[in-house]
Amino acid sequence: MTDLLWLWIVLGVLLLAAAGSALVVPRLRRRDRDRAPEGGATTLAPERDRADVPETATVDTAPPPAAPVLETPAPVAGRMVRLRDRLARSGSPLGARLLSVLSRDHLTEDDWDELEETLLLADIGAGPAGELLEALRTRVRVEGAREPGAVRELLRSELLNVVDPTADRTLATTPQQVDGVARPAVVLVVGVNGTGKTTTVGKLARVLVAEGRSVVLGAADTFRAAAAEQLTTWGARVGVETVRADREGADPAAVAYDAVDTGARDGVDVVLVDTAGRLQNKAGLMDELGKITRVITREAPLGEVLLVLDATTGQNGMQQAKVFGEVAGVTGIVLTKLDGTAKGGIVVAVQRELGVPVKLVGLGEGPDDLAPFDPEQFVDGLLG
Ligand code: GDP
Repeated sequence: MTDLLWLWIVLGVLLLAAAGSALVVPRLRRRDRDRAPEGGATTLAPERDRADVPETATVDTAPPPAAPVLETPAPVAGRMVRLRDRLARSGSPLGARLLSVLSRDHLTEDDWDELEETLLLADIGAGPAGELLEALRTRVRVEGAREPGAVRELLRSELLNVVDPTADRTLATTPQQVDGVARPAVVLVVGVNGTGKTTTVGKLARVLVAEGRSVVLGAADTFRAAAAEQLTTWGARVGVETVRADREGADPAAVAYDAVDTGARDGVDVVLVDTAGRLQNKAGLMDELGKITRVITREAPLGEVLLVLDATTGQNGMQQAKVFGEVAGVTGIVLTKLDGTAKGGIVVAVQRELGVPVKLVGLGEGPDDLAPFDPEQFVDGLLG
């Protein structure tokens, strides 16, 4: 009997102990779990340790790294409308002030002086300003228009004249046949550092991709490692290969040659070559760009030499630009940062000074903020 009693007591104690641990352990586990997120590092460490252990197995079984997602550049048509809207929204002092003076009842000499001052402040340049005023004087005398719609139309057509709607602004980006073999069109991009050269090459690659062209980039600005890096990133975003040097300070002409050679071998439509824009002396610049041009033309015809100019530097940037114009045989101008200035007259001034048309304009820092220049949309933007 006593034995039986002892057996019951022992069984009872065992049962109680089992029930107790069943209640306590989950609570401890829960507390651990609840506490874990507080200490980010401690939570992450065991995770990392765990991940580190089966490294080879993980590598073998994990899916391959995802291919970079290619971006689809925005359509090119309609980009200039954005500039028109932006210029119009900025209440462009040029268009608004010209219109308000021209609409006065009797235009005095003071009024004409005010018009001239407005044009000069908008960086249009003395020559074009004089021509525009002369044309306006004649038309106001002959037509005597004072009705707002007519004044606007008169100013619009004369502004358009100085911007030059007849200039050929197409980009030579069609491959050429040389001795019966298709060769890519080569576009060399030159200009002072900081004007937006590398960014423009990247944006232009997107414009061409948007138009269904195949492109190779050449990072011939070998003086800044960051420039090659920047260009490679631009290209990779739209699936475009970038040819670059394996070290800083390499011969830019060699990189340009390799880029054109790669483009020719791969049968691409266009090779875009970015160059360094150090402010060196004219002879040095001539040597460097001359050598690049020579090696490129051994492989393919040079379709375009685009000079990149920062619109916000106004007349100050012009002197440096002229040096590039003289040494590089520029065929077109890219006017960047037009979004950052109300002085749209610079378009007219650079074309006059350099004798080549503005072909593209930069409208912002976004990847698709580059548009083929359209004189009518531009003038409409100035007039608001
Ligand atoms: P690079 O030294 O001539 O190659 O100049 P980068 O391409 O490195 O550009 C210099 C700076 O200008 C960068 O911060 C660009 O984002 C900026 N930039 C280039 N084009 C434009 C433009 O059209 N508008 C604005 N707002 N910024 C621009």
